[in-house]
Amino acid sequence: MIPFNKPFLTGNETDYIRLAVESGKISGDGDYTKKCHLFFEQKFGFKKALLTTSCTDALEMAAILIDIEPGDEVIVPSYTFVSTVNAFVLRGAKIIFADSEQTNPNLDATKIEALITSKTKAIVPVHYAGVACDMDKIMEIAEKYDLFVIEDAAQAIDSYYKGRPLGGIGHMAAFSFHETKNIISGEGGMLVINDDRFVNRAEIIREKGTNRSAFFRGDVDKYGWVDIGSSFLPSEIIAAFLYAQIENLDDIQVKRKHIWNHYYQGLVEQANSGSFGLPVIPKYAFNNAHMFYLVCNTLQQRTDLIQHLRNDGIYAVFHYLSLHKSSYYAAKHGTRDLPQTDNFANLLLRLPFYYELTDDQLNQVIQSVNSFYK
Ligand SMILES: *Cc1c(COP(=O)(O)O)cnc(C)c1O
Repeated sequence: MIPFNKPFLTGNETDYIRLAVESGKISGDGDYTKKCHLFFEQKFGFKKALLTTSCTDALEMAAILIDIEPGDEVIVPSYTFVSTVNAFVLRGAKIIFADSEQTNPNLDATKIEALITSKTKAIVPVHYAGVACDMDKIMEIAEKYDLFVIEDAAQAIDSYYKGRPLGGIGHMAAFSFHETKNIISGEGGMLVINDDRFVNRAEIIREKGTNRSAFFRGDVDKYGWVDIGSSFLPSEIIAAFLYAQIENLDDIQVKRKHIWNHYYQGLVEQANSGSFGLPVIPKYAFNNAHMFYLVCNTLQQRTDLIQHLRNDGIYAVFHYLSLHKSSYYAAKHGTRDLPQTDNFANLLLRLPFYYELTDDQLNQVIQSVNSFYK
């Protein structure tokens, strides 16, 4: 059996958790959290990194920080996880769904401008599979219309746009360390802030609306309730687990790129004969090997291929359903067609992808896919 995902432990996770427990401080913002923050700020040049309990929480913090109010419009791809959208819906925003590009599931930056109205407040690009959206184009539009850009970088750790780290380009960005991502902590996430205006308030919102962080730094002599907020910070137990992962980030990435390239080489010939499509990485983007997917020619073909692989003991899965057609949002979205989104919702198939996949197992998957088409 080859599962779709298998969480990878680097070896130090439980040792670091034990040390955190023995230190006597297991609530948030202790030594491991600080070490994680420092790592991300130094390695990627992020102005401010704040661990959260999930990427969903980081997105919710971002929506509060840019003061989303009922009636504000937010432009989001329809081909994404619900949290990208929910975070803004929770604050009363109206979601304006954008279509994907023809060659990859990222939102099509050339179609954003037509969606902007006087109520538009933010654009939320999602770097699908860790592959960058066209950020120069998106930032140029944001500047022209005075909009905020919140990158959903859930899948995009250690990935780049024209050499710049993803998550470091928009006003803010949200990362995920859910067990299906490249580096993990079970559940976990991070808000990255690249615009100074949001740093102080982010600390407050993350600490239940109090200025507790400033108090612990000694900046103020007592702390109290100063804003809205919630409990967005993870415990030291989560941060200790994550720290063991980030210490091994480079090794994890090398292995994942090997897996990605192995799949690509094993499947490219069959793909070139027209059987299915392979991921297209734009020139400006980098591949952080978060995911390997095929684009089948028809929905029926995808359904049959999933079954064929399952019969061979291989678990392959499709991904997002079009959010503009979801039972919660379809009526609010209306009838505007998003054909590329529907295409990826119907045709994209993800192959098993995790650190411990061996070359033998990869060959089994490749062989099974190719034999389906022969
Ligand atoms: C995984 C993911 C999320 C949610 O991350 P959590 O940490 O589970 O909240 C949001 N957006 C995208 C694009 C994701 O892939």
